[in-house]
Amino acid sequence: MNSARPTNLRMTEDVADLRSRLDEASETLRAIRMGEVDAVLVQGAKGDNLFTLNGADDPYRVLIEEMNQGAVTLSANGSILYCNRRFAELLKMPLDKIVGFAFESLVAPSEQAEFVRLLTAGRTAGSAGEITLLASDSSPVPLQLALGPLPAKSAAKICLVATDISDRKRAERALRASEVSYRRLFEAAKDGILILDADTGRISDVNPFLLEMLGFSHGEMVGKSIWEISPFKDIVSNKVKFAQLQQQGYVRYENLPLETRDGRYIAVEFVSNVYPAGDRSVIQCNIRDITERKHAAEELRASERRFSDMLRQAKEVAEAANRAKSEFLANMSHEIRTPMNGIIGMTDLTLETNLNREQREYLDMVKTSAHSLLGLINDILDFSKIEAGKLKLEAIDFSLRDCIGMMLKPLGMRADQKGLELVADIPSDMPDHFVGDPMRLRQILINLTDNAIKFTERGEVVVKVINQSPLNGENHLQFSVSDTGIGIPAEKQAAIFEAFAQGDGSTTRTYGGTGLGLSIASQLIQKMQGRIWIDSKVGEGTTFHFTARLGVRVTASPVEQADLRDLDGLRALVVDDNAVNRRVLHDMLLNWRMKPTVVESGASAIAEMVRATDANAAYQLVLLDAMMPEIDGFALAEKIRQQPTLAGATVMMLSSATPRGSAERCGVLGVAAWLTKPVSQSDLLDAIWIAIHPGAQTNDRQPEHCSAETDPSPSGMRILVAEDNVINRAVATGILEKRGHSLVHATNGLEVLQAFRTGSFNLILMDVQMPEMDGFQTTRRIREMEASSKCHVPIVAMTAYAMAEDRERCLAAGMDDYIAKPLKKEDVLRVL
Ligand code: ADP
Repeated sequence: MNSARPTNLRMTEDVADLRSRLDEASETLRAIRMGEVDAVLVQGAKGDNLFTLNGADDPYRVLIEEMNQGAVTLSANGSILYCNRRFAELLKMPLDKIVGFAFESLVAPSEQAEFVRLLTAGRTAGSAGEITLLASDSSPVPLQLALGPLPAKSAAKICLVATDISDRKRAERALRASEVSYRRLFEAAKDGILILDADTGRISDVNPFLLEMLGFSHGEMVGKSIWEISPFKDIVSNKVKFAQLQQQGYVRYENLPLETRDGRYIAVEFVSNVYPAGDRSVIQCNIRDITERKHAAEELRASERRFSDMLRQAKEVAEAANRAKSEFLANMSHEIRTPMNGIIGMTDLTLETNLNREQREYLDMVKTSAHSLLGLINDILDFSKIEAGKLKLEAIDFSLRDCIGMMLKPLGMRADQKGLELVADIPSDMPDHFVGDPMRLRQILINLTDNAIKFTERGEVVVKVINQSPLNGENHLQFSVSDTGIGIPAEKQAAIFEAFAQGDGSTTRTYGGTGLGLSIASQLIQKMQGRIWIDSKVGEGTTFHFTARLGVRVTASPVEQADLRDLDGLRALVVDDNAVNRRVLHDMLLNWRMKPTVVESGASAIAEMVRATDANAAYQLVLLDAMMPEIDGFALAEKIRQQPTLAGATVMMLSSATPRGSAERCGVLGVAAWLTKPVSQSDLLDAIWIAIHPGAQTNDRQPEHCSAETDPSPSGMRILVAEDNVINRAVATGILEKRGHSLVHATNGLEVLQAFRTGSFNLILMDVQMPEMDGFQTTRRIREMEASSKCHVPIVAMTAYAMAEDRERCLAAGMDDYIAKPLKKEDVLRVL
């Protein structure tokens, strides 16, 4: 519509007339609206122009056009005279196409009858209702219609306002859909669902599953109050308070008993929630039958109980079997050691008699075989003990150097017989005092060193220790045993740690052995929280390394510190052709703050001694290796003795073996001490200390002096030997009577007590297992009898039980010491 240039005007004469005839002018307005005219010029009676009426200026029209509802006027027969823009939009039709349409033809066919009813009512009093029209693309347009009559004079007879209700219809559809799905869930749920009115407690709905669970029909429950229904009556009054269900948003009971219609009790899990439903609140109760679950849990608990009973029984059986195994081991040890005692003891005794060469040779072989059989028994016992978890390590103070020295001493003889150099290499700054199990550490080292000697034909065996960093009061020591022997092929290296495994079948035939040693050693090492590994090359040699964790004892004894002050600055010369030995001895001497010099031959020793004497710094101590090429130790000692300027030095000799007559030769040559290699640090210290403090024998140090070949044990003692076994008795008798002791024999505990009452003894050797009264009991009785007299006769147990606990039992019973059977001469002499 264009108001700027009014064309096609229609004239009206008078405003009052215009107003009175506004209704009739609707036709004019319609013409304007339909674009048939652009504007109406309103003139006064005198022909003066009063105002122009066009679309933009008509406030009603603007209002109607801008409305968010559709506005329509209809003629008496229901055809459309006018509609606003919104209505055209709703029907997706151009405005001018709508005018003239019979409104009814826009109505969805199914709702036409309803529309006719609204239209009829709309003509007179006005009407309202929901009607769906079809848009130009046939899509349904749901509308809320309000119809009303127009003044009679008006060309249009009915006006109609249409509000789009598509959104509301959509929401209603969605709500209906969700209600349907909720209903489906409700109907199909495998839990019981009960809906209660939150105000009254009346049941408003109940699902089929709950009905079936309880045995009720829908009609019997819905509409009733919860207190009226038997399954709930009881619990709602006693257990579940209705007020609680109303007030708490969420209530849960894990296990409620519900009585069903037929009088059964079922266990249920009960969960309730309160939520609004329209203007009310409802309580939804979910009820799950857990009877089966409870039964299953009870069943599970019962089977767990049964299972743990079975486990306990199995454990008891296993423990009994383990006990039986330990007892078997102890008995086997006893049974085997007893005859072994006879074999070894009698062989030793026979070897001390006059024999021809052949007899001696045969008996030596018997002795060697008996010792290897004993070694085997000990290995098997150890292995079984470890297997049975019975092996316990001790934690006692010990000297590392003594431990290594003691283990090397007997092996030194064997090394010497094979012409091997056996060396202990312990750095001088290595601490000496540790806490651990020296016996087991020695056992590991003996095993490795014994193997090294066994599998080496030429060269040397070196036992070495290094101290890894101390940590949290514990030291990690790394040991190694190296040899220059046959070596172990790479593919065999892992297997030899297994029990009964040996490097090679053919080697075994040559070298013998059981294949248990390394397996035991590696398990002992594990117990010391260490590990073992090998470096080896076939034909070049083998090094076994292992680590062990030992506790540290910080201080050395004051005696040792005082001893060391005396050695401060002592000038010492070491003469040895073996480089490792030279270094080891040098380090030991340096450790005691002496001033050591090392030379590798007799000739350089003499030259060095002369040089030092000339420089007014003569050597005070000379350590000689007995066996050296060219000038040996004896020849060198002789040379030193012959030169008056050198003869002031204290000369000590070290040797791997003790050839017959060495003692006499030493005496003649003025050698102060004779030490067997490998010498332990404490033995060397003792020997030096005594050599430079003549008359110092009172010190409890017991050096290995030139008199080493004589037997130091006392003689003429009265000894009571309690032993029921004839052979064992004969062995003990043989050893003891030979040394001038007088013996009284007893074969059981009662006889011991009898003898004890009537005679006095310097010592009782007591077998532990005897008929009538065993050794433990007999000892206890003797100790009781002694209590009043304040005497104490030393009692030493002789037992074939080799377990550590047995030793403790002996001491606990009041015995003073312990020797294991088979009796060895050295052990017996030691206790004397
Ligand atoms: P055995 O009693 O047979 O010596 P071990 O367990 O001590 O048992 O050793 C197992 C095997 O490991 C030996 O049979 C040998 O083949 C090999 N073995 C151990 N130590 C050495 C070594 N130093 N040199 C070469 N082979 C060795």
